[in-house]
Amino acid sequence: MRLKNIPGAREAIAGSDLVVHEPMQAKGGWRQVFGNGHPIHVEIGMGKGKFICEMARRFPEINYVGIEKYSSVLLRALQKMACDPLPNLKFVRMDAEEITEVFGRGEVDRIYLNFSDPWPKDRHAKRRLPSRQFLARYEQFLRAEGDLEFKTDNRGLFEFALEELSHTDWKIRKMTYDLHHDEEMAQGNVMTEYEERFSSMGNPIYKYVISRI
Ligand code: SAM
Repeated sequence: MRLKNIPGAREAIAGSDLVVHEPMQAKGGWRQVFGNGHPIHVEIGMGKGKFICEMARRFPEINYVGIEKYSSVLLRALQKMACDPLPNLKFVRMDAEEITEVFGRGEVDRIYLNFSDPWPKDRHAKRRLPSRQFLARYEQFLRAEGDLEFKTDNRGLFEFALEELSHTDWKIRKMTYDLHHDEEMAQGNVMTEYEERFSSMGNPIYKYVISRI
């Protein structure tokens, strides 16, 4: 998702308390950022933030960090939050390629990848967020028992993500080719913006949950 450049987006973000502006300085110290020792869940590529805002509302005992590459998109999330800031939700504007500079070893308990950009050209495969290159990054800061949840309506991207696992130590814990009709996995499912849009068109949603142990 890349919205039209919004004049003033960077300035609006710079003035927001909901954004961690120097995330590399928080590395190893995210518990101090939130002021408690609650588990930390991170959504990478959160878009306008519908999912992570709703999760933070539902689960106040979990701290959430939403990561988004583009200021124009992050600004939309901040505007949604304007009347309703939550103490357990922070945002970071960054490219996830640098994510190992932002979280310390074992600091994160769960990673969410929702409707990640497919990067259809083969030569861009390593930019896909469920690629083996990104999985190797996640291993550096996800707690050993932590897990990663990925959902998409893009069959090709899902097949790619499954194939990538065979080059890694990650194991599938749960998987479905039709999330909304999977009695167990659909329980408590919070829909993202893309999920609402594509499932309303009749597209099935694919999902896996993976971990290393
Ligand atoms: N997760 C949201 C949803 O399901 O509605 C948005 C999905 S949108 C297709 C993907 C989002 O990921 C975009 O907002 C894009 O800017 C962001 N994104 C893609 N690559 C990223 C990266 N390397 N680092 C941070 N954000 C990224």
